[in-house]
Amino acid sequence: MLYRRRELDLPNGNLDTPVLFPVRNLGKRSSDNTPTYVGDIPDFSSAIINARSIRNRDPMWNRLTNGVTLREEMDVPEDTIVFADSGGFDFTSGEVDTTPKETLETQRQLNADIYGTVDVPLSRKNRAAENQDRIEQSIQFALEASDHHDGDSLLLASVHGYDPETIRNNIQHLEKYGDFHGYALGSLVPIRTDYEKVTSLVLAARKATEKHLHVYGLGGLVYQPLLLYLGVDSFDSSAFIRAAGNRNYLIPGFGGEELQNIEEMERLPCPCPICGQRTLDDIRQDRTALTQHNLWALATELRRFRYVAESERDIENYLDLRFRGNEVTQRAYKTAKQQIRRLV
Ligand SMILES: [Zn+2]
Repeated sequence: MLYRRRELDLPNGNLDTPVLFPVRNLGKRSSDNTPTYVGDIPDFSSAIINARSIRNRDPMWNRLTNGVTLREEMDVPEDTIVFADSGGFDFTSGEVDTTPKETLETQRQLNADIYGTVDVPLSRKNRAAENQDRIEQSIQFALEASDHHDGDSLLLASVHGYDPETIRNNIQHLEKYGDFHGYALGSLVPIRTDYEKVTSLVLAARKATEKHLHVYGLGGLVYQPLLLYLGVDSFDSSAFIRAAGNRNYLIPGFGGEELQNIEEMERLPCPCPICGQRTLDDIRQDRTALTQHNLWALATELRRFRYVAESERDIENYLDLRFRGNEVTQRAYKTAKQQIRRLV
C-alpha cells in the first residue's frame, strides 16, 4: 500500500497531504479566470501559481513589489498555502528567460510556501538527444536552486524523463548533490493518455525517494485516485477550468459529460452548494458556476478516496469498481496494481 498521509510544516501554515493544488491563472491573462474557492471549499486552502507569469505582468508585479501581498492580489486569506511553479511549462517551445536565482527571488517575493525549480519540459515531438539535453539542463537548474535556497519554504526539484530508469537516476543524482525537500515530476501532461507509461514513471519516482512527491498537471478526476494509490503526496490541476470552458460537467466516479448531452433533467446529479440549489438550465448559462461545481467534483473524488482509506475498506476493491467503466484506465490501474504487488 503506497497511499500515505503526511503533514507539511510550511511558512504560512500546516498542510495535510495528499492534497490537490488548484491552478490560479493569476498573471496569465488580463483577468484571472479562476473563481473564488478558498473559504468555500474547505479542502482547498491552497493554490498553485505561475511565478514567471506574475513576474512578467508589469502592473501586477509593481503592486507586489510595492506593499501588496500575493494573497491580497488573489483575494484570499493570508494563510492560504501557495505553491509557486517556475512557469517552466512555458519553455516547452520558448527560450528560457530566467535563471534559478532569479526565479527563487520571485518565489520569495511572492511569499510562496513551496518552490518548484526552473525546468525545461520534454516533448514527444523532440528528438531523443534534444530531450536528453533538456533533462540535463533541468538537473543543473535544480542544483543551482539548491545552492541559492535558504529559509523555511519547501524546495522541490522538478524532474523529467520518459523512462523509469531516467527518473530514478535523476532523483538519485539530485539527492546526492543537492538539498531538496522533495521532487516534482513534470512533462507528463503531453503523454497523459498513455496511462501505463505515466503510471510506470510515477512509480519509479515514488520508489526512488521517501520525500515529498508532487506530480505537475495531472490532478483531474481520473488521475486523482490513481496518483493517490501510487503514493503521490500532491498534484495540481486546471481541469476544472478547462472542462468548464468546454461546457463539460465533471461527475465524481465517472468523468466529464458535456452539458449539451444532458437535456431532460431539471437538476444535476450532485448535491454541492452549486448544483444542490440551482437548476440545470441555470448552471448551463453560468460558466463560473460550472467551474465551481467542477472543483467540488475534484474535492468529492478526493474525499471519497480518503474515506475508503480511513475506514479501512479495501482500496483495491474500491478502485476495481472505480475504473471498471473505462477500458483504458482500467488497464492502467491493473498495471499499477501488478507493479505495486511486486514491490511488497
Ligand atoms: Zn455540483
